[in-house]
Amino acid sequence: MGAFKFRGAYNAISALSPDARRAGVVTFSSGNHAQAIALAGRMLGVATTIIMPLDAPAAKIAATRGYGATIVSFDRYTQDRDAIGARLASEQGLTLIPPYDHPDVIAGQGTAAKELIEETGPLDALLVCVGGGGLLAGSALGARALSPACLVYGVEPEAGNDGQQSFRSGAIVRIAVPKTIADGAQTPSLGALTFPIIQDKVADMLTVSDGELIETMRFFAERMKIVVEPTGCLAAAAAFSAKIDIKGKRVGVIISGGNIDLSAFARFVA
Ligand SMILES: *Cc1c(COP(=O)(O)O)cnc(C)c1O
Repeated sequence: MGAFKFRGAYNAISALSPDARRAGVVTFSSGNHAQAIALAGRMLGVATTIIMPLDAPAAKIAATRGYGATIVSFDRYTQDRDAIGARLASEQGLTLIPPYDHPDVIAGQGTAAKELIEETGPLDALLVCVGGGGLLAGSALGARALSPACLVYGVEPEAGNDGQQSFRSGAIVRIAVPKTIADGAQTPSLGALTFPIIQDKVADMLTVSDGELIETMRFFAERMKIVVEPTGCLAAAAAFSAKIDIKGKRVGVIISGGNIDLSAFARFVA
């Protein structure tokens, strides 16, 4: 469905008991996790309910509905989505699968680094984009297991460097929803499960500016003929702007997704 989130969603739904599968799953998301849960649910024959803000982009709502999910809309300014989720979960016996802070989601996301290193052999460094830290935690577990000397770096938008602050201070730092074009990384904090894994397995947390993301989107479009969404460019942008010394090293870069509507894409790369 155009982003790595399918890995975690599919793994988490696969791990449910037969009873839990029969009842169905619920999640909140306006982005790639919603589409991932909807598609994984359809493939595994599990009903999915996605709680989405009324003002979510129409294309994303349509894509999620197209994969067969039931959409429950809420007004993000007046209604509490957690309360809606809790009510649906208790009334219908649904299992909540969050976008990053869940062991089976983290494990599924980690298959990205696993497959990469199985293909390339040991790496000196691996760069991974970060929102809530599911992809980074899973990738760091996978990379350090298969390539123990590999230094793993998380990359965040400059405007939302809560992960870097958390990593350096040793406690989860929560910030206001950051203003950045990297919409998949507009998370206010790392998770209670992702943070300790990141602290244990990651070498450092780096940041890049929105301008550096746009330069990287242009590179992928012009030189490689691929559409990468802004969040998907985080790790590559850190490599291109030499946030760490990569000269002569074997460096893995995870490109996480390509879901962006074409008019927004055209504005960015024009
Ligand atoms: C969700 C998302 C991220 C961030 O993943 P986390 O596991 O929340 O850190 C990065 N890129 C894309 C395209 C995403 O959809």
